Amino acid sequence: MALSEQEAQKASPLTDRFGRRHTYLRISVTDRCNLRCQYCMPAEGIQWIERKDLLSFEEIERVVRVLAGAGVSKVRITGGEPTVRRGIENLIGSIAKIDGIKELAMTTNGTTLRKMAQAYRDAGLTHINVSIDSFKPERFKEITRTDKIDTVLEGIECAVNAGFESVKINVVAMKGINDDELVDFVDFAKVRPINVRFIEFMPFDGNEWSKDRMFTYREMLAVVNQKHEIEPIERRPSQVAKDFKIVGGLGTVSFVTSMTEDFCSDCNRIRLTATGEFKPCLFMLPIVSVRDRMRNGCDDSQVLDAVQESLGQKWKGHPGAENLIKLKNASMIQIGG
Ligand code: SAM
Ligand code: SF4
Repeated sequence: MALSEQEAQKASPLTDRFGRRHTYLRISVTDRCNLRCQYCMPAEGIQWIERKDLLSFEEIERVVRVLAGAGVSKVRITGGEPTVRRGIENLIGSIAKIDGIKELAMTTNGTTLRKMAQAYRDAGLTHINVSIDSFKPERFKEITRTDKIDTVLEGIECAVNAGFESVKINVVAMKGINDDELVDFVDFAKVRPINVRFIEFMPFDGNEWSKDRMFTYREMLAVVNQKHEIEPIERRPSQVAKDFKIVGGLGTVSFVTSMTEDFCSDCNRIRLTATGEFKPCLFMLPIVSVRDRMRNGCDDSQVLDAVQESLGQKWKGHPGAENLIKLKNASMIQIGG
């Protein structure tokens, strides 16, 4: 049964009407990127955000400090491509020092890791996700509209050697695009201490999503099972992926089933956009701008109010894929993945 807003906030400042406690903040630090992935941004590009409209590192740090005081213990830095924002290692360093932050993760396309993986780790980044959707140079080029595959592959090896608590590889699985490479990715994880995550293709503005291109969890599982022996790992609360051990291997394989088996019922995530708006769900429009409040001199309790107002409107769950495409939303690159 849904809680009243007052009952929810009494349970914990970041509990919503449906009793879900929010302990995980995902921060987009930029909408810019040095790749142009088809599934993430439209071919014609997007209207870039002006520099002055982005949250500064000091503003981001303040939001994290306030939310850490209200129970957030995990932060993910994402974008756009977070590593194209100059000095990102300084933001990593300052968030890592905030009391209460136990896990600091980043999702990146891997293009800076060859040079920077160790610096990010040393600054306090604990977990890293690197996105790559194909091992085939021509296909990588088609998907990302760039030819940086070697840089990304080297970057992954540098991340594996940098001593992170976990290295995960994100693969958006799409029929007719990279569906024949699933077993290659599992082979890759078999000989490295990494987690490969196959993500169901999600619809966003301008990304040419169609039901026919969506490779579902069940279909992917059947393909992987043909070649590999994998065993399910018990799900932890609020976990978005279905995890499997690769029998006889070093790594693990996971499926992020947002489209066919959602994980809304115990979702613990809240998002902060690059322009400082709280988004209670990936698929909901931004609700409250904390940037404007901070720039108008608000105090920390009003920062907390902003996130509570946003969570107050969080829906119970997102609609299925075919209804999602009818909703207004931005491109993934603008929202922050
Ligand atoms: N630039 C970084 C990267 O590529 O990892 C971080 C931002 S990106 C938007 C975050 C994640 O969202 C990536 O793993 C990307 O593959 C994933 N993603 C983007 N568009 C998607 C879509 N339409 N469906 C599923 N995953 C998507
Ligand atoms: Fe850039 Fe990441 Fe989007 Fe690709 S998925 S265009 S790397 S933000």
